[in-house]
Amino acid sequence: MLTKINELQAKTILTKSGLPGADWVINPYRGCQMGCMYCYAAQIARWKHPSEEWGSYLDIKINAPELLKKELTNLETKNKSKDFGFIFFSSVTDPYTPLEAKYHLTRSCLQVLSDFGYEGKIGIQTKSPLVLKDIDILKLLKNVQVGFTVTTLDDKVSRFLEVSAPPVSERIRALKELSRRGVPTYAFIGPLLPHFMNSKADINHLLDTLQDAGVAEVWFEHINLSSKIKARLFEYLETESPNLIPEFEKADNQEYRDKFNQVIYECLEGRNLKLGLGKVIFHHDLPQKK
Ligand code: SF4
Repeated sequence: MLTKINELQAKTILTKSGLPGADWVINPYRGCQMGCMYCYAAQIARWKHPSEEWGSYLDIKINAPELLKKELTNLETKNKSKDFGFIFFSSVTDPYTPLEAKYHLTRSCLQVLSDFGYEGKIGIQTKSPLVLKDIDILKLLKNVQVGFTVTTLDDKVSRFLEVSAPPVSERIRALKELSRRGVPTYAFIGPLLPHFMNSKADINHLLDTLQDAGVAEVWFEHINLSSKIKARLFEYLETESPNLIPEFEKADNQEYRDKFNQVIYECLEGRNLKLGLGKVIFHHDLPQKK
């Protein structure tokens, strides 16, 4: 899909986070070229691009590094510290969307954090091996962790639902490489894809693969089928694979989630893996931050 590019001057870059576990988020881009069919950010960003298809545009905050430098200095003065909490890349885009290869905004923001000597935790979550280009800077940061979203181990499934994202086999290879180079990693298994990732054997195979890739922490999240996400996803499934719709609908209830949580907890038993937030996440159950 061709991307409509819009370079802009952002007013702010380090924003308070509504995500569990994160204090701040940095989104160097608005929009995301990966175009995942289950993406919740597609709805959040809609107010700026009401009629454009998710994945077809990218707003590029070209002043992100300069802004970040100023905002870090202001926060240091206010907090008298170089640690203001956990900074997360990114909440409504992939920080390594393909055009990062041209604009290097995520890289430049990481460089700013490194030059500043940020002492708090920094998290990066992506679906792209493009993050490997920044290992030199990642190694300079004091407390950084890189996560890959892994929803399946089948490239055909990742291509089907994460339409323009790098296939999952490339992500697993990138996790291995990060681990080999000494960068701490985690995997975000979310959303848990009904039909494709719904058995003990699926979860065990996935966890074996991730541990083999050097992952020490995993996060699990149930699929969010709130009305707007569902409308976009089901419109796509209706055209591409209508037999999946009842499978997805079946998974959208508390009984299914409770049962599957038990399966996941059993699969985690005896493994040397940390579980993010200590539980399988479902967006409705999370405390809302102000
Ligand atoms: S990579 Fe993340 S932000 Fe981008 S479309 Fe997929 S789910 Fe949405």
